[in-house]
Amino acid sequence: MAKIFCIANQKGGVGKTTTTVNLAAGLAKVGQRVLMIDLDPQGNATMGSGIDKRQLELTVYDVLLESASVAEARVKADKLVEGGCGYDVLGANRELAGAEVEMVALDRREKRLRTALAAVGAEYDFVLIDCPPSLSLLTLNGLCAAHGVIVPMQCEYFALEGLTDLVNTIKQVHANLNKNLQIIGLLRVMFDPRITLQQQVSEQLKAHFGDKVFDTVIPRNVRLAEAPSYGLPGVVFDPAARGSQAFVAFAKELVEKMPPASAFASGAVAPP
Ligand code: ADP
Ligand code: MG
Repeated sequence: MAKIFCIANQKGGVGKTTTTVNLAAGLAKVGQRVLMIDLDPQGNATMGSGIDKRQLELTVYDVLLESASVAEARVKADKLVEGGCGYDVLGANRELAGAEVEMVALDRREKRLRTALAAVGAEYDFVLIDCPPSLSLLTLNGLCAAHGVIVPMQCEYFALEGLTDLVNTIKQVHANLNKNLQIIGLLRVMFDPRITLQQQVSEQLKAHFGDKVFDTVIPRNVRLAEAPSYGLPGVVFDPAARGSQAFVAFAKELVEKMPPASAFASGAVAPP
């Protein structure tokens, strides 16, 4: 059974998509079977995995509206397979922006993704969900489907403030919709150790959240920012780059630390 994690933070531009595609590639590289789901109508995680969002016949939109199954709508990213990091993609494009409105009147509207994923859970070790920068019905579908949330964050002053809102949302979803949901961990991204403030915020994070802060730190690295224009995760585009190596290290940390999916479902892993 797959461990299902959302990559979420309601702020935009904090590194959610970069984390999702590079963690997916890193996990695949160390032998894990991965499904990456793009829940953002911008489709950046789709494009960044080498899939042209405009060419997709079926996307996560069709899955949410129950006109297609995950097995029908997922695609294999050939460029990633060539790069030794093959993972499956359930893509998104602009059509997904309409799902929000179309789903409002439907029943079980927060649980559509969760229901759809149940059919393919056994085929993967990890399912990673790239969430949009909002706490919308789309994000709610991700949170209801997941065992936990990985929160990428920059070590800046306002980062801590934003975190409070996200933690409160996760607590509410935990209480009302998904009793398994928990914070898996905080991932420090775009980190520059030369900036004193970043070091201070990093220390504050560790003081507040303890071992919920992942050991791996993702450095600011231009190769990670260049990779999407080639339709590749940095891990495939330039495996030797510092940022790529950090994501492979993060994938290994996750594989080592995470208990089997059954431990999440049985409540053996502590909630937030
Ligand atoms: P989000 O999905 O949260 O909006 P993105 O992953 O798209 O954030 O990242 C925002 C911008 O920052 C993108 O241009 C991306 O290429 C860049 N970026 C993300 N992580 C890094 C990093 N570690 N080093 C350099 N640039 C990064
Ligand atoms: Mg994004």
